[in-house]
Amino acid sequence: MGEWGRASQVPRLSESASSGLVNERVLFLVFEHMKWDIRTLCRVAAVSWKLRALAKRLLWRELCIYRAPRMIATLTEGATNSRIIGGWPALAKLLFFCGGCESTRHFRLSRPSPGHFAEESRFSKTSGMSFLAKSCRGDVLYVSDPCEHAAEEEGRRNDDVGVYRGVFRAFFKSRTRECLIRKRIGFEEGMRCPYCAARVWSMTAARMIPQKSAARKLGSGDGAVEYFVCLNGHLHGVCWLVHLSSDDGGGGGDEEEEGFCSGEEDDDGHNRNYANNGN
Ligand SMILES: [Zn+2]
Ligand SMILES: [Zn+2]
Repeated sequence: MGEWGRASQVPRLSESASSGLVNERVLFLVFEHMKWDIRTLCRVAAVSWKLRALAKRLLWRELCIYRAPRMIATLTEGATNSRIIGGWPALAKLLFFCGGCESTRHFRLSRPSPGHFAEESRFSKTSGMSFLAKSCRGDVLYVSDPCEHAAEEEGRRNDDVGVYRGVFRAFFKSRTRECLIRKRIGFEEGMRCPYCAARVWSMTAARMIPQKSAARKLGSGDGAVEYFVCLNGHLHGVCWLVHLSSDDGGGGGDEEEEGFCSGEEDDDGHNRNYANNGN
């Protein structure tokens, strides 16, 4: 993953010179003392292949546990020593790196906005509920608050793009994945997960986005919400963040079903999820 893209200037130690550094216990204690500083960990993991391997096997996981203990306990169902789908480096990146945004098939932007470190993101599985199709609400999904990226789109001078990300627990046995497979949704062409590089499904194409509840959770006024889920259950998405006007109470209705995932349901009459975007 190139340790998030900035590693090339770090001088490499010869392996013989670095052997003293590759003492797991020492490194663990040093990082514990540094409260698992992410930038330092990125740099250390870029020094040599041994340190990179050690970070991959141990340090990224410890960083995740230290910084988000409850979330990690939930995601791993208590088995924090175990492997995690997509790997610990990808999860660490997801926790602390906003991927920025660029144009997609259903969400047009005139220029991309770059990714960046995001150390203070708040992830919530209550928020995640708002992103699950009704029949998939038994799944556990954590989603972050949207990160605001300035946009200068025609006709949207006051709107920002909201960029958010999330992760499913045990995605391989989730209802969401089952639905995507049952509906035979193809992978999105030319797009990869920004966290693990796996292929992704567009939830807009799958018509599994509960637009109203997701838009309300994100603070997006017109329901223009789009997100992708990768084979390992990482989610990344965008929306328009509309600045509140004084008459925006934010009360919303009690909408029930949108975003569906039943192979039996037909295509007619249920597609207001995204059919009303852009109109
Ligand atoms: Zn951001
Ligand atoms: Zn992924």
